Amino acid sequence: MKRIAAPPAWRAIDFISDLHLSAAQPRTFEAWRAFMASTDADAVFILGDLFEVWVGDDARASGAFEAACAGVLQSAARRMHVAFMAGNRDFLVGPALLADCGIAPLPDPVVLDAWGRPVLLTHGDALCLSDVDYQRFRTQVRSESWQREFLARPLEERQSIARAMRDASAQAQRGRSEWADVDADATVAWMREAGARELVHGHTHRPGVGALAPGYLRHVLSDWDLDATPPRADVLRLTRDGIARRSPA
Ligand code: MN
Repeated sequence: MKRIAAPPAWRAIDFISDLHLSAAQPRTFEAWRAFMASTDADAVFILGDLFEVWVGDDARASGAFEAACAGVLQSAARRMHVAFMAGNRDFLVGPALLADCGIAPLPDPVVLDAWGRPVLLTHGDALCLSDVDYQRFRTQVRSESWQREFLARPLEERQSIARAMRDASAQAQRGRSEWADVDADATVAWMREAGARELVHGHTHRPGVGALAPGYLRHVLSDWDLDATPPRADVLRLTRDGIARRSPA
């Protein structure tokens, strides 16, 4: 399992995920923009699904919204460390966007060693093992050959394929009573392998904290929706004292 070390001089690391940014939700975009411009953390780790959809880094050239998001990332990365892990919506964020914006790529999963405290970080979708159809889909779209073939298509075609995939996923979701959760046994096995007693993940949109097994604590991020009542926008902040839930403002 890949490990990264936080510089000892850092005091705070913010985790966010599942913002699902899109031009259709300007309030959520604005909250994220303001957070990235104002947090006093030394680093922001984005743990997947920053974007509702990302069909290729070239979308920035013709899409005003994509360009605005890249601008926020670039400005933020000038004043602090910003790291990005792909989620199930934005796994096509590529090296071009990250390099142009000065963002560090994060593998999924990854162990963050900060102040002698190892914390396992994952988006979460790879651990939702009960959703067999989704795991099959994930293996397909994460393969290099699928991605090479998809990215070779014209932008408009990629956008329409992405829309169809999203509709199919929403359709499948309607038949279920609730979202899949991470598989507890598999997750604790990852934590043991990582030597980590704490885990931070998103994806399930079920924010909370609790033990998956005695001594193995998991913190789940919320999604961000500033149009919801009440609005949702969690930040989990890691310091020497532990992990605390905050609001971005
Ligand atoms: Mn997700």
